[in-house]
Amino acid sequence: MSDAQTAPPATRAMAGIVGAGQLARMTLQSAIALDVSVRLLADRADDGAAKIWRDVLVGAPNDLDAVRSLAARCDVVTFDHELVPHAILTTLEAEGFVLRPSAATLALAQDKQKQRESHAALGLPVPPFQISHDPNAVPAFAKVHGWPVVAKLARGGYDGRGVWVLRHEQDVADFAAEIAGRDTPLVLEPFISIEQELAILVARRPNGEQAVYPLVETVQNDGINREIIAPARVNPELAAEATEIAHRVADAADITGIMAVELFATGGKLLINEIATRPHNSGHYTMEGAVTSQFEQHLRAIRDLPLGDTRLNAPQVVTVNILGPADGSDPVRQLPEALAVPGAHIHFYGKGARPGRKLGHVTTLGDNLDETRNRAWRAATLLTGEERPF
Ligand code: ADP
Repeated sequence: MSDAQTAPPATRAMAGIVGAGQLARMTLQSAIALDVSVRLLADRADDGAAKIWRDVLVGAPNDLDAVRSLAARCDVVTFDHELVPHAILTTLEAEGFVLRPSAATLALAQDKQKQRESHAALGLPVPPFQISHDPNAVPAFAKVHGWPVVAKLARGGYDGRGVWVLRHEQDVADFAAEIAGRDTPLVLEPFISIEQELAILVARRPNGEQAVYPLVETVQNDGINREIIAPARVNPELAAEATEIAHRVADAADITGIMAVELFATGGKLLINEIATRPHNSGHYTMEGAVTSQFEQHLRAIRDLPLGDTRLNAPQVVTVNILGPADGSDPVRQLPEALAVPGAHIHFYGKGARPGRKLGHVTTLGDNLDETRNRAWRAATLLTGEERPF
């Protein structure tokens, strides 16, 4: 065989990921399987994905030169988080780099005000809301919608940081003091009596072709997602409505890649809470629990490859997040005990243990929900040494 036949193609398609956290790390697992070339831009050389990958640039996501140097060495750029400033995204697009999702799609993901306004304009179901720059607008909003009022920073919040529940007028002064100096509008909403928090993943190719996953339940505790139950325990009409919403939201966002739509079920109806235009915590169950993992699906979408089957691999799939224990200990040390739980798929993100930090997750598959849940929680509580919270 001649060298020409054995040498790899001269140019190999390269995907760049801005950010090297757990989402990038799990995307690499799929990239290995598909032999898709990936280059990372890591904030720090010891970030969870950077320390297990060879092709890494180190630089901050808010440094135009750093992000540009990644883009210049890739055919397509994607993201592990929402931290790249909009001005950098638009500059790179203007320079001809291909961002998937695009700057316009990411602008939506970075801004709760834009999401509410665009979804409301399309007639999609959203909570009643008002945009204000002044916390002193809260009492007037409460006059119409009642207390409590939920106030959210339009930009910059995550994991419940950036969300306040104001129970009465006396809370407003403290709230105003807390957010003083933050240059972002507020989204005011009534406090919704949420029966279930739900999420649905949808992947979309550049030509608009879509693949939607089953609707799942995201069980929260203290504003943090603790558990995913797939499929969601809802009637088929609600599940069908969620699928329809996911299709419409993905088209409205004009996304290329995977996205998650977070929903509230209240009074038998769905409301859109927020979107994330990347692989999402609520989708980790797909790694073993669905035919195509969300990470592989994201790579397929941004590379414009055929999308994969989104069906579940078992009647019940449960994922429990592993949070850093209060005593600061590292759950990895309990791995031998947890691995003895049958069928527990354990993932660690390569992050240092800190109380409350998401360090990994456990997924189980089964026929019976209680049994599947119990197994996932057994492995998770063996790892953290903490009690099951519910
Ligand atoms: P983040 O972007 O920080 O995740 P979210 O907007 O998703 O913030 O809100 C975090 C959590 O706060 C939600 O998962 C939900 O439990 C609760 N929440 C948000 N909005 C409302 C609301 N209008 N009424 C009641 N609870 C809410």
